[in-house]
Amino acid sequence: MRLNIDHRTSLIKQKALDLGFSFCGISKADFLKEEAKNLENWLSKSYNGKMDYMNNHFDKRLDPRLLVDDAKSVVSLLLNYYPTEIQKADTEVKISKYAYGEDYHYVIKDKLKELFDFIQFEIGEVGGRVFVDSAPVMDKVWAKKSGLGWVGKNSNLIHPKHGSFFFIAELILDLELTADGPIKDYCGTCTRCIDACPTEAIVSPYVVDGSKCISYLTIELKDAILPNEFKSKMDNWMFGCDVCQDVCPWNRFSKPTSEASFSPHENLLKMSKSDWTDLTEDVFRELFRNSAVKRTKFLGLKRNIDFLS
Ligand code: SF4
Ligand code: SF4
Repeated sequence: MRLNIDHRTSLIKQKALDLGFSFCGISKADFLKEEAKNLENWLSKSYNGKMDYMNNHFDKRLDPRLLVDDAKSVVSLLLNYYPTEIQKADTEVKISKYAYGEDYHYVIKDKLKELFDFIQFEIGEVGGRVFVDSAPVMDKVWAKKSGLGWVGKNSNLIHPKHGSFFFIAELILDLELTADGPIKDYCGTCTRCIDACPTEAIVSPYVVDGSKCISYLTIELKDAILPNEFKSKMDNWMFGCDVCQDVCPWNRFSKPTSEASFSPHENLLKMSKSDWTDLTEDVFRELFRNSAVKRTKFLGLKRNIDFLS
């Protein structure tokens, strides 16, 4: 006999914490009506830049039932990546904190699979899929609906006690679970992220023009040369950008992650500006062997570093 809904919900949440996830919240798997308008608007303004894949799977992005047959629940999970140590302020060539350690896709996928196996073992035959940046799932929206935080004016999910330096992942299940409710938006009158963004990518509160965002420019954009209009605006970021998170007052609550695989490679924080400028392919391979930075490949990272000088 199946466990009752509250019991199985708390079992899943407890297991998620045991696996090292920081927080777990649940939503009913439903059509995201409000988001449909926002997404359509965002795409119509070409804020996705050359991320053409954003135009695909519009319906699937908005309805988890198109990703998993008979989906009933979305389980959202957060994993803290705030590093124990950060790059020296005078390094002058910066990498986003989420990419310091091992590639989160692999670390999180292993945990998700273990959680899914646990559910099938403890609860019975449950259908579903695990997601970490791997399919059209609006992770921030689901985490918000599940009460894990609010989506701030910088478009990041902010946990009221722990800030925004989290990876977000999901399990979509054909299993009914007790849903959590959303929490309040605590941005208030603050505009720090909007004021601090080096490229003025936060075009209005809660709306980021992805095509101007340094994360897009340094990671997603595959052009051989970055657009000249951003030449003096990169704020020395060579991979990603943390400015709108670093200035957010809610991140004063960030605590270092206990996930050992997110620790930076031992040589990463020792790199000086000239080490970066003179980066060779061998050093790139050694530093980023298991890292998400591999996405840019050596020439992509070189392109970004050269653009800063
Ligand atoms: S990540 Fe950087 S460039 Fe992108 S919106 Fe935030 S501050 Fe602006
Ligand atoms: S910096 Fe201020 S406005 Fe921006 S997300 Fe944080 S609290 Fe909200």
